[in-house]
Amino acid sequence: MALRTFMPGELLRGYLCRLRNENGLRDDVALATMLGVPRVGASNRSSSANLLLPALLAKLGAEVKSLICQHSMVPFAKYLAVSNLRSPEPPDFSDASYLWFAMSMGGIAPRLCRDCATEDLNALGISYWRRLHQLPGIDWCAKHGRPLSEVLRGAPFGESPLASAVHAIDISAKAVEAGVRSPVVRRYATIAETILETADRPVNFVCAATVIEKRALDVDLSVTKHPSLLSDEAMRQTPNAWLRMHFPASATKVPNKVGWIDYAGTLHASPVGMSTFSLAMALLWDDPHEAIKALSHAHREKLNFNSSFAWSESDLSDIWVKNRGCHKLIAAELDLNKDQASRRLTKAGLPLYGRHGFEELEKKAITSLRSGKTSSQVARACKVSEDLIERVLRSSRQTENVEMSDSS
Ligand SMILES: [Zn+2]
Repeated sequence: MALRTFMPGELLRGYLCRLRNENGLRDDVALATMLGVPRVGASNRSSSANLLLPALLAKLGAEVKSLICQHSMVPFAKYLAVSNLRSPEPPDFSDASYLWFAMSMGGIAPRLCRDCATEDLNALGISYWRRLHQLPGIDWCAKHGRPLSEVLRGAPFGESPLASAVHAIDISAKAVEAGVRSPVVRRYATIAETILETADRPVNFVCAATVIEKRALDVDLSVTKHPSLLSDEAMRQTPNAWLRMHFPASATKVPNKVGWIDYAGTLHASPVGMSTFSLAMALLWDDPHEAIKALSHAHREKLNFNSSFAWSESDLSDIWVKNRGCHKLIAAELDLNKDQASRRLTKAGLPLYGRHGFEELEKKAITSLRSGKTSSQVARACKVSEDLIERVLRSSRQTENVEMSDSS
């Protein structure tokens, strides 16, 4: 079997197809079998990714992290990590959970540069898919400056760029030119390309949003209040056609009202994607490299305890119950001084009466419940939320269970 290694900047999904085509294999399952992976079910795509890639890496003598960082869209697409708000530094890209995302390129129309494809053919005898061409919002080849061409039919990356070029459709030169002429779009392109090429770990979204929120204030903009909203500035500074094509959410923007790109600086129910985030950076910094530097240090930002997103109310209730109302422990867990912690707890409607008060509340809740009262009645009597009473009861039931199983 021919197992040629990756080309520089070659996209993993395209590489696998190239490997299959060069060896006359039908699909990833056949490829896995070829690589000696035992029994991969055709229906179970995730197990084929889990087994195929490690086998491939072992054959090539490569590491998960270099594969993800050099041959997938992960460093850009997954740059913002929202999973764990408590840990400021998320795991780096060597985490195998990124492999499946690196494999799947679902939903995107592959893009190629006709000049790159021809050059590759002359120099290498093959053509290959570059990940730089797949960055959202960048419609031109950085090397040749010409508009990219989109492949709208067939299995994505199923054949070589050269073969796909025959039925690819060129992106309108006029639309590309409007983008290239705009300083914001050019900065956006530098930011997206640099992050794709250099990021080796994601940043915590909450920390990153804090950086954006602060930067907006520094340049007399805001992500929460009219006037001078970031979203209004985006509509003014960015070519309309480019926005409409790459940021459909911008169509919902109402002048002077908080919307889409403002959510890059706040924790909104639907966190923004990395392209919206990059556009926010391009609008807020004149120097794209300064923007990237600020973001990559985001985890060092002290979370602003007053900002609405530093800790959700539900997070705070959890912490309050876990530490049984003990002020000192709560302040330590929030990494705040006692004063700041008190203010934050009060804002979240949590009582400040300490460990003794917590035990009183717990006792009252249990006895009232036993005497047939509902948790909402208990909550009213104790002047706390029903949600808190339920959390207290849940935690005391868990403690009871642990004690029972300890004594048995
Ligand atoms: Zn090119």
